[in-house]
Amino acid sequence: MEFHLPPDNSGTGSVVDLVIAGGGPAALSAALYAARYGLGHIVLESWQPGGQAALTALIENYPGVPSVPGAKLSGIMRSQALEAGARFTTETVSSVEPLGEGFLVRTESASHTAKTLIIATGAAPAKLGVPGEDRYYGRGVSFCATCDAPFYRGRRVVVVGGGDSAVKEALHLSGVASGLVLVHRRDTLRAEPRLAQRLLDCPTCEVRWNSTLKAVTGDEQGVTGVDLETPSGLEHLDTDGVFLYVGTKPATGPFRGLVELDARGAVLTRNIVETSRPGVYAAGDVTSNGFRQVVTAASDGARAAWAAFEYLEDRRQN
Ligand SMILES: Cc1cc2nc3c(=O)[nH]c(=O)nc-3n(C[C@H](O)[C@H](O)[C@H](O)COP(=O)(O)OP(=O)(O)OC[C@H]3O[C@@H](n4cnc5c(N)ncnc54)[C@H](O)[C@@H]3O)c2cc1C
Repeated sequence: MEFHLPPDNSGTGSVVDLVIAGGGPAALSAALYAARYGLGHIVLESWQPGGQAALTALIENYPGVPSVPGAKLSGIMRSQALEAGARFTTETVSSVEPLGEGFLVRTESASHTAKTLIIATGAAPAKLGVPGEDRYYGRGVSFCATCDAPFYRGRRVVVVGGGDSAVKEALHLSGVASGLVLVHRRDTLRAEPRLAQRLLDCPTCEVRWNSTLKAVTGDEQGVTGVDLETPSGLEHLDTDGVFLYVGTKPATGPFRGLVELDARGAVLTRNIVETSRPGVYAAGDVTSNGFRQVVTAASDGARAAWAAFEYLEDRRQN
């Protein structure tokens, strides 16, 4: 049976078997497998090549690579995909609509007609919505210790959060900062026990348990302090920087209405990568799968490319 795709009248972009939206480990792995399966494809990656993994100081839990800077691991994945024949372009997907039996994928500069789609757009850091957070963003408020740690050599920093990301990045910052306070709303860290213990043993680190960030304060130069709600009341801490690791928000805006999302806004999947719409697959942190790691994103990406390949093969044969 021929795949029915009406002509795209926008006059731009390409007609491909598969569009992969994203540029992190899920997309890089999907691109590697798509290239090896001989699928005509294009990877549309937006502002952050390598995804969150590329912004991670050190990755110690990717099997086969004991300890590696995130940017290096992402770079290796990208080179491997490119060597296999993967095609990348820097474009941000703005919307996707069904087109015949395929899809019209629009970006800010082009549109692409695709028979199948893999959504691998990951997640962006969540905000707390407290006063000063937006005002001092880039002037002391940061979501990326790997990017900004060098600015805090010999200075004081506050890290907010208690999961793997918060603790790992706090440990990275503790190597440069003169003092670090981790603010956590619970009385135990959620992070992997080995990481948590390293933070508890860190001589220049302190944890404020059962405490929440209420405001970021500052002056024309940037951040000068934070207001905390602690078990003993409101407290002001002087600090030069605030790093926020309070969760992530799935980047699913362009896919609303195309596929079913869960209450968090993540793409609802079954059989790991299948979405509610045939021919559309999802991989990595953008999904409702729960465990969000580089290894699971890479695994999802491979599965999604395989699923797209099988879907197209079935249609060719029937
Ligand atoms: C601070 C921190 C530390 C971490 N440490 C570890 C660790 O040690 N080990 C580990 O296994 N995991 C770690 N993680 C988690 C890991 O980074 C993620 O699970 C992984 O990067 C998810 O990959 P992904 O490809 O699904 O999404 P992402 O890495 O988020 O990549 C998504 C990509 O999609 C792009 N994109 C978004 N919207 C669009 C759009 N509309 N159009 C086109 N492209 C778009 C983004 O620019 C980005 O490149 C860490 C995460 C953080 C935040």
